Amino acid sequence: MKQGRCLCGDVRFSTDARPEGMSACHCGQCRKQSGHVWASAHVPKDRLAIDGPVAWYEASPAAKRGFCPRCGSFLFWAAHDEGTISFALGALDEPTGLRLERHIFTADKGDYYDIRDGLPQE
Ligand SMILES: [Zn+2]
Ligand SMILES: [Zn+2]
Repeated sequence: MKQGRCLCGDVRFSTDARPEGMSACHCGQCRKQSGHVWASAHVPKDRLAIDGPVAWYEASPAAKRGFCPRCGSFLFWAAHDEGTISFALGALDEPTGLRLERHIFTADKGDYYDIRDGLPQE
């Protein structure tokens, strides 16, 4: 069981599924919403239990982004046509038992940093 929460604790989530696809997203939307890079993993939508008031923002018609309306923590990302939901690795209780596997949308990365950890870049 993995559990997490937002900064203020109003929103909590848990899953009994094995998280997959641990990645750091460098796209402009994730950087705007999180302040830098957004690290996440995904589980089947019906295996993630969310407790608390999540606000959803549709930055594009393809997906919605969930955040805590009180403290602003960017917690969830879900495409409308996929069966999975992504959650923020930074919101997980530790030890997470997880490791980042890759960087994604690196073509959109910010110009103020380099990626030097040796993980695959997509
Ligand atoms: Zn909060
Ligand atoms: Zn992104």
